[in-house]
Amino acid sequence: MNVIVAGAGIIGCAVAYELASRGARVRVIDPRGPGQGATRASAGVLAPYIEGHSDALLKLGACSLGYYDSFVARVAADAGRPVEYRRAGTLEVACSDAEASELARAAERLSRAGVAHSLLDGDAARRLEPALSRAVSAGLLVPQHGYVAATAFTSALVAAAERRGVVFAADSLARVAQSADPVVIAAGSWSSRIAPSPAPVRPIRGQLLHLVFDHPPLTRVVWGSRAYLVPWEDGSVLVGATSEDVGFDERATEEGVTDLLARATAVAPAVAGAPLREVRVGLRPATSDELPIIGASSTMRGVYYATGHYRNGVLLAPLTALMVADLVLDGRERAELALARPDRFGL
Ligand SMILES: Cc1cc2nc3c(=O)[nH]c(=O)nc-3n(C[C@H](O)[C@H](O)[C@H](O)COP(=O)(O)OP(=O)(O)OC[C@H]3O[C@@H](n4cnc5c(N)ncnc54)[C@H](O)[C@@H]3O)c2cc1C
Repeated sequence: MNVIVAGAGIIGCAVAYELASRGARVRVIDPRGPGQGATRASAGVLAPYIEGHSDALLKLGACSLGYYDSFVARVAADAGRPVEYRRAGTLEVACSDAEASELARAAERLSRAGVAHSLLDGDAARRLEPALSRAVSAGLLVPQHGYVAATAFTSALVAAAERRGVVFAADSLARVAQSADPVVIAAGSWSSRIAPSPAPVRPIRGQLLHLVFDHPPLTRVVWGSRAYLVPWEDGSVLVGATSEDVGFDERATEEGVTDLLARATAVAPAVAGAPLREVRVGLRPATSDELPIIGASSTMRGVYYATGHYRNGVLLAPLTALMVADLVLDGRERAELALARPDRFGL
């Protein structure tokens, strides 16, 4: 079967890789080339028990996290290169009584759900992560969380997909009309411009800092109420992220950078003196219910959606790829697809 995938962010690349792994002939088109949209700015945090703000999102995120080990292993083997991916946990921290109470409530929810975690006081949190500020009064450790270096993962997906015959073309898809071959709309924030009927996906800008350290100041992802820090193996740290409703504007701002530095310094004071390597900016593809749009179009045969992943596109990439490949190649609907159907928006 021939399949066209519109968009080469992490979602389009993961979908293309999975389709080709199962024998499809896939062409991916993207005017910018792979990984240059929101994916480029992503912190790559894999944390459904922090980011799962609704039952449906939590279910999708937890399910996708369950596929991560095997998906990354397959991609790395097919690409012939390792991918920076660590499941060393997240440490969510509180710097006020109100935040500490919120962490205690989150710990109760995790207990009820049977998810492994530890609720710590400030000193215990600092024993785990000595770089934390004295202002940290509590911490919630979720060991199964982690991160993947999103850009490196996307490059590996491209290499693995190419080895399985996927062709990447620097081209742009206009609005989708009836096509002989299946078309997967995976154009992130730009999806509404190419979908057969206007898709309710809008851009929410995020700015992220890449700071340089000689030695990793942290051993795991640290998540504060106003900033998170992701320590990479090379010692550098990602600090995220702003959330701004400014349309299709992908520029960094001085205010964004200053604000992020102040928020991160409150959690880990060493951030203040670290050189800035880069500011990354991306447009998160947001839907009104903050759930992705995945599945077959209800208005045009042969058109499929894999978009609207908002804050969790990296986390949800494996599950999205598996669900779309099942659907396009075998007409099979996984149970989780019911949580993300396009027809809830009349698509
Ligand atoms: C600052 C920031 C931090 C984030 N942190 C995390 C995180 O920690 N964990 C997590 O899971 N998620 C995170 N996200 C969200 C995640 O990055 C996105 O959900 C994900 O990258 C969306 O991927 P995508 O492939 O759908 O979109 P994109 O990466 O935006 O890719 C869409 C592609 O479509 C292309 N395109 C546009 N128009 C057309 C056209 N007409 N034809 C063909 N192609 C077209 C674009 O060029 C682009 O390459 C973060 C996002 C930001 C901005």
